[in-house]
Amino acid sequence: MSTLLPVIPSSLPCFPCPHDSICCSWGTSLNTKEAETLKSLYGADAIVWDDEENEWRTRVDGDRCMFLKNNACSLHDRPEYPSVCRCFPWSDPETGGPYQYDLSICPELPQDEADPTER
Ligand code: SF4
Ligand code: SF4
Repeated sequence: MSTLLPVIPSSLPCFPCPHDSICCSWGTSLNTKEAETLKSLYGADAIVWDDEENEWRTRVDGDRCMFLKNNACSLHDRPEYPSVCRCFPWSDPETGGPYQYDLSICPELPQDEADPTER
């Protein structure tokens, strides 16, 4: 068991993303306030309840989050941009600590250290 954290670059080529924004394939998790805000602004279909994770998420339309338009996040410069997306992959918006989940969703990130919770 190692206590080393993966080396995460200080910036990513997110726009335009050279990986077809593959990290947006699963939508993103939302806290209750974010879910209510997206619902009020974009309608009930903008969010879905995930029974497995017990959380609200943005809807995936086809193979990407419904807010991805032309390989860019349409919420990126808006106040309702979800905090998980705002913080990925540097920090966890809930704890303020390091990002805790799967880094392998971005090909720019260390693939062999994909799940820091496993260490
Ligand atoms: S996090 Fe990675 S996959 Fe996602 S938009 Fe940025 S460079 Fe692309
Ligand atoms: S809200 Fe934007 S950055 Fe977050 S998953 Fe959806 S399209 Fe991607």
